[in-house]
Amino acid sequence: MLIGQRVLIIGAGIAGLAAARALAMHGAQVTVLEQAPAITEVGAGLQISPNGAAVLRALGLGKALDAAGLPTQAVVLHHAGGRALLQMDMSSRDYRLLHRADLIGLLAAGAAEAGVTLRLGQTVVGVAPGVVTLEGGATLAAPLVIGADGVKSQVRQALNGRVAPFFTRQVAWRALVPGDAGPACAQVFMGPGRHLVSYPLRAGTLRNIVAVEERGDWAAEGWSQRDDPENLRAAFAGFGGPVPGWLAQVQDVHLWGLFRHPVARNMARDGMALIGDAAHPTLPFLAQGANMALEDVWVLATCLAAHDIPTALAAYVARRTPRVTRIVQAANANARVYHARGLRRAALHTAFRAANLIAPNLPLSRFDWLYGHDVTRAP
Ligand SMILES: Cc1cc2nc3c(=O)[nH]c(=O)nc-3n(C[C@H](O)[C@H](O)[C@H](O)COP(=O)(O)OP(=O)(O)OC[C@H]3O[C@@H](n4cnc5c(N)ncnc54)[C@H](O)[C@@H]3O)c2cc1C
Repeated sequence: MLIGQRVLIIGAGIAGLAAARALAMHGAQVTVLEQAPAITEVGAGLQISPNGAAVLRALGLGKALDAAGLPTQAVVLHHAGGRALLQMDMSSRDYRLLHRADLIGLLAAGAAEAGVTLRLGQTVVGVAPGVVTLEGGATLAAPLVIGADGVKSQVRQALNGRVAPFFTRQVAWRALVPGDAGPACAQVFMGPGRHLVSYPLRAGTLRNIVAVEERGDWAAEGWSQRDDPENLRAAFAGFGGPVPGWLAQVQDVHLWGLFRHPVARNMARDGMALIGDAAHPTLPFLAQGANMALEDVWVLATCLAAHDIPTALAAYVARRTPRVTRIVQAANANARVYHARGLRRAALHTAFRAANLIAPNLPLSRFDWLYGHDVTRAP
C-alpha cells in the first residue's frame, strides 16, 4: 500500500530517520523536515537493547550497527561505595553501547540510501490533517504526516491538545570523558536518592556518564543547558570505586530535567501518527526511549504496507499502546530500586548479593518480556 505514497516526517532524530528508511524501503516517497540547520548530536551514549537492535538489523543496518556499537559483556550493579552487588551476563544478547552521533549517522546514511529527501532548517509551526505549515507560512501537503518531533511535539499537540508534564524532582547530567581499560560493561552505582551509570563507547576510546540526582531545584527538559562540572562532582562526592576518577575528568557537562509525560492518548488518527518521544517520552531508567522508537517504526511501517491509512493507523495504536505503556511504567519503577533509602535499600542490596551467588541472571529474566520481544517477528 505504500508504493508511491507521499509521506511527511517531522523530525530527523532516531525515530524520524529510522521511519524514513523503513517507509522508503516499502516504496513510499518520503520527505523529512528538520528544524536544525545540520544533523548534529549532543555527545552522549545510548544503550541499544536486543529489541531495538532487531529493528536495525531488519532495516538492513546490521553491519553498520556492528561497526559502531560495542557488544556489552555485562550489566553490573554496584553499591555507591564501589562494591559490586550483582553482575548480569549480557554476552549472549545483542546488547550494544553506541555514541548517539554514530547511531544518527548510520540512520541518516540509511535514509539517504533509500532515497529519502531530507530538508534541514525547516521548522514546523502548525499541523492539521494532510497539511503542515512551516515557519514563514509555506505549507506542504501529504496524506500521511508522521510526528517524530520529540518531547515538545507539534503533532502530539494537534492530536491530543496540550498536556503539561510534571517535573519528577530528578535531574540527569550527561558527560563524556576519555576512555580507560575498563570492561565493556554497563555499570550502575546506586546511592540513596541518586545513581550513576557509565559505559565505554567507540572501542573504549570514550566513556559515557549519566548521573541522576533527586532534588527540588527545577531544570529544563532538553540538552541545551550546560552545568558546572563541580555541581556533578559535589552531588556524587560520597561515591567510591572508579567514580571519583571518572568525575575528576569531566570538563563539559549537560543537565536535563526529568519530566513524566503520560503516553499520548491518541497515538495516531486522521492521517497523523506519533513515534518515539513524541508519543511516549520515558524516564531514562531502563534505557528504552530510542529502543521503543525503533519498535514503533517497524510496527507502523508494516501496518502501513499492509492496509489503507485509517486501518493501518488503528492497527498501529492497538499494537503499540499496551507495550509502550508497560515499558514507561517499568522505567518509573526502576527509579525506586536505584534510589532506595534506609532499610529498603539494605534489603534490596542483600537480595542482589544473594542472587549474584545463586542465579545472577534471574533478576534480568524479569525483563524477558522487554528484551526478548522482537517486533520484526511478531505477527
Ligand atoms: C539521560 C538520558 C539517557 C538516555 N539513554 C538512553 C539509552 O541508553 N537507550 C535508549 O534507547 N534511549 C535513551 N534515552 C532516550 C532517547 O535519547 C530518546 O528516547 C530518543 O532520542 C528519542 O528520539 P526521537 O527521534 O523520538 O526524538 P528526538 O531525538 O528528540 O528528535 C526529535 C527531532 O525533531 C526535531 N524537531 C522538533 N520539533 C520540530 C519542529 N517543530 N519542526 C521540525 N523539526 C522539529 C528536533 O530538532 C529533533 O531533531 C535517554 C534519554 C535521556 C534523557
